[in-house]
Amino acid sequence: MWAVHLTENVNMLKEHNIFEVIFLVGFVVGSVIRVIYTAGRRGIKAKKKYSNVLDIILVSAAGIGMDLPFLYLFTSWFDFANYALPGWVGWIGTVVFAGAVLMLWRSHADLGRNWSATLCITGQHSLVTNGVYRFIRHPMYTAHLLWAIAQGLLLSNWLAGWAFLVLSVPLYIARIPKEEHMMLEHFGDEYRQYISRTGRLIPHMY
Ligand code: SAH
Repeated sequence: MWAVHLTENVNMLKEHNIFEVIFLVGFVVGSVIRVIYTAGRRGIKAKKKYSNVLDIILVSAAGIGMDLPFLYLFTSWFDFANYALPGWVGWIGTVVFAGAVLMLWRSHADLGRNWSATLCITGQHSLVTNGVYRFIRHPMYTAHLLWAIAQGLLLSNWLAGWAFLVLSVPLYIARIPKEEHMMLEHFGDEYRQYISRTGRLIPHMY
């Protein structure tokens, strides 16, 4: 039974183009990075939690947008929303996805055990201002935005391609001011100075 499903999935994959395969590879590499660093923070407890229901709803919505491509790749449900893209768009998407995965890795490596999916200050929190955090305060969100743009460039489908971008922008709009407020409350002048020399998502620009 399992083998039949696998053969069916492999056959469906064959019908897909190279960019959809590249998307899957990037997705797996990015997910492995996340799993490794999530495991690395085992035992860390939140000292003060700042996420509310809205934050949890917005994180879940972004997660749906991130996973929707699987329904597109392995069912025909979204075929009505297909469109054609020239090949060079897919190659740009490949470069953007590689940048997203690289950025995700570096930000996880630099943030270490201070990382959390929801907003909180942990018992042993330290302010990270080195590595990619030297240039921007939210490299992990930049990585996810790049991922969302790459998804749109690699998958030629209005729904599966752009759902992550559309569903994740509200999360960052709501979360970044809240997160910075939390960091200011906890780290005070140290974070205020850090703000003065860094961008939020793009160095020197925003
Ligand atoms: N916004 C950051 C981190 C995302 S993970 C980024 O995009 O890279 C969210 C958690 O990271 C928050 O709960 C906060 O406690 C922690 N955090 C954010 N910036 C930090 C920093 N510069 N140093 C230490 N922890 C940080």
